[in-house]
Amino acid sequence: MIRVNDLEKSFGEFKALNGLSLHVDKGAVYGLIGPNGSGKTTLIKHLTGVMKPDKGSCEINGMPVYDNIDVKLMTGYVPDELYFFGNYSLKAMRSYLKALYPAWSDERYRTMLADFGLNENGRISRFSKGMQKQSAFLLALCTRPDVMILDEPIDGLDPIMRKKVWGYLLGDVADRQMTVLISSHNLRELEGICDCVGILSQGKLLFEGRLDELKGKAKDMSLEELFFYEMGGEL
Ligand code: ADP
Ligand code: MG
Repeated sequence: MIRVNDLEKSFGEFKALNGLSLHVDKGAVYGLIGPNGSGKTTLIKHLTGVMKPDKGSCEINGMPVYDNIDVKLMTGYVPDELYFFGNYSLKAMRSYLKALYPAWSDERYRTMLADFGLNENGRISRFSKGMQKQSAFLLALCTRPDVMILDEPIDGLDPIMRKKVWGYLLGDVADRQMTVLISSHNLRELEGICDCVGILSQGKLLFEGRLDELKGKAKDMSLEELFFYEMGGEL
């Protein structure tokens, strides 16, 4: 469903992505794990069509992502830094997105609005950080995307809300084979959610595979130890 081949991206002299390849099957929940600065957000900006590859390719459902409206309409995205139009409420966002996204669900909107206890008439930009995050999840999930991309989504969500959000996400994975890519700097944060993981370091993937495979090797290892291990070091 997601296929990245030999992707490179430089900012000036600095190579943020350095020949990165990864692959996510349809219906998988893929954890992209890497320390700060390893290139997670840069990769995600390529997967959401915000950045254009210097070299290599980035495809969703066999289509190149950059400048491709069909891909954008099948992709949900919750960025690390949220942005909302100045005076928009959830109600106004609903009208806007409903007109844009063919698979938009009003039923889902009403259910999640009640479940999250959000006021659909309030300005989103004045909501608390956590409520803004909830709003971003709500809106992204109501577009009923085939692919959901989440950049470090856990910050700002309390444990109860986290559980609710995972419930909706994993429900969509089970019900309609939604594909999820979720980034984090902490492997443990994603335990119990991901079935596959990619470990990113300095713009390259060190490991890609099933989480249970990784856990077999990596029991009780910290991420740093794991990197060391994957680089061929002896513990
Ligand atoms: P992560 O999300 O894993 O923390 P990023 O993808 O945000 O990492 O950043 C990877 C590296 O690329 C960092 O060293 C960062 O400073 C650099 N970088 C990211 N975006 C830009 C940019 N627009 N201009 C210059 N450097 C950037
Ligand atoms: Mg980031």
